[in-house]
Amino acid sequence: MEEHVTETAPHPFDPAIEILLDRAEQFCADRRTRLTDIRRLVLGLILQSSTPVGAYDLLDRLRDQHRGAAPPTVYRALDFLADQGLIHRIERLAAFVGCGHMLECDHGGHCGHRAQFLICKRCGATQELEDRRIGEALSDAAARAGFAVEQSTIEIEGICAACRTMPEDAGSKLRAVAPRVG
Ligand SMILES: [Zn+2]
Ligand SMILES: [Zn+2]
Ligand SMILES: [Zn+2]
Repeated sequence: MEEHVTETAPHPFDPAIEILLDRAEQFCADRRTRLTDIRRLVLGLILQSSTPVGAYDLLDRLRDQHRGAAPPTVYRALDFLADQGLIHRIERLAAFVGCGHMLECDHGGHCGHRAQFLICKRCGATQELEDRRIGEALSDAAARAGFAVEQSTIEIEGICAACRTMPEDAGSKLRAVAPRVG
């Protein structure tokens, strides 16, 4: 058995995620910022998660790879990633998701990206919508109020497509077939 274990594996994520991370690194370089190792790791952990992930969950997952990781390290990385538009913070869940737009964006320096999220109340699945008409309608309405929108995230709660295919009373039916006592 090889005894030399590096502190962080060079490519700890699925190939598809590593490709996104490489693109994020280039994205940052183009903006003269830097996706440092720790920022790359935090972004990878967020992209790898199928549901939005909170700061403390991230810290736990990070410690699997970086034993000394401290909360300020994670918060600073999250601030950076959010400032760059690479992740969004879902206020309702106090959790973060990767942005589906920024790495595909071809709007140059004036990206008017406005995120809308569909959040499933049952399973927690979160899907980012990007309907420019919603963003434009919002900006127009705000402009009529003399307000200049800098950033906005719309959070919409409901039941996702997968959960909708399951009967709403599945839980009570299960209870109904449970053997009765007496
Ligand atoms: Zn986005
Ligand atoms: Zn854009
Ligand atoms: Zn669901």
